[in-house]
Amino acid sequence: MLRTDQESQFMISQIHPLPAFRDNYIWTLIDSAGSSACVVDPGDAAPVMKFLAAGSLHLSDILITHHHMDHTGGLRELIDMYRPRVFGPADIPGIDILLSEGDRVEVFGVDFCVFEVPGHTLDHIAYFHDGGHHDTPILFCGDTLFAAGCGRLFEGTPAQMLESLRKLMVLPPETAVHCTHEYTLANLAFAAVADPANPELQSRIGIEQGKRDIGRPTLPSTIGIELATNPFLRCGSPELAASARKRLGRPVMDETEVFAAIRQWKDQF
Ligand code: ZN
Ligand code: FE
Repeated sequence: MLRTDQESQFMISQIHPLPAFRDNYIWTLIDSAGSSACVVDPGDAAPVMKFLAAGSLHLSDILITHHHMDHTGGLRELIDMYRPRVFGPADIPGIDILLSEGDRVEVFGVDFCVFEVPGHTLDHIAYFHDGGHHDTPILFCGDTLFAAGCGRLFEGTPAQMLESLRKLMVLPPETAVHCTHEYTLANLAFAAVADPANPELQSRIGIEQGKRDIGRPTLPSTIGIELATNPFLRCGSPELAASARKRLGRPVMDETEVFAAIRQWKDQF
């Protein structure tokens, strides 16, 4: 059935970040009727169950971005308790609907497109809802793109990760970026060193610090904010190329080399 954009903006009423472990968020979508929920990357079942019970919600769907335990550890318990549909990449126990590039997932009438974004892990995928004319576009990107940072390269190469980030960079600037970790302040501390003359970055530091000071999440971010302030999305800029050159002590050949140098620098920061 075709839905108009006008209708779709009422299909998801809220998206909540449920804090888990030290710095994870389990993003929780609630349907407009207020009766069903969908969680993204439930690394721990306990905070999800508590939230569902408090709101008398049924868990109808789970979206998984990649195989790491802090994103999948709660799966077994949640499946046993609620029997939800479980979407995600192949080779993760509990996932019954396997996804790959270009697949579409509908949750509460809202359509998500799947991107393969290898780099942090090889199986990593992201979920994107194109908001049309009325909705805000929504991205769930797991550990690929962070606020002012990107995921560590556990399995993929710098070229793979850069290619994956490029898929996200071309999304509408107003896209709400829901990543899984509250790493923003630490990422900004590094960004300020790697990209020291960026005025937008300087003002962002104050804004995000202000949110943390009153205990609020810094997320979601937007693609527009990330394009302006995230050093990993600015590897094509002369500023980041100069920083990479300085760090390596030799000329850099291309954007992939800049990305690799910045990523390695951040790993040791
Ligand atoms: Zn991960
Ligand atoms: Fe993670």
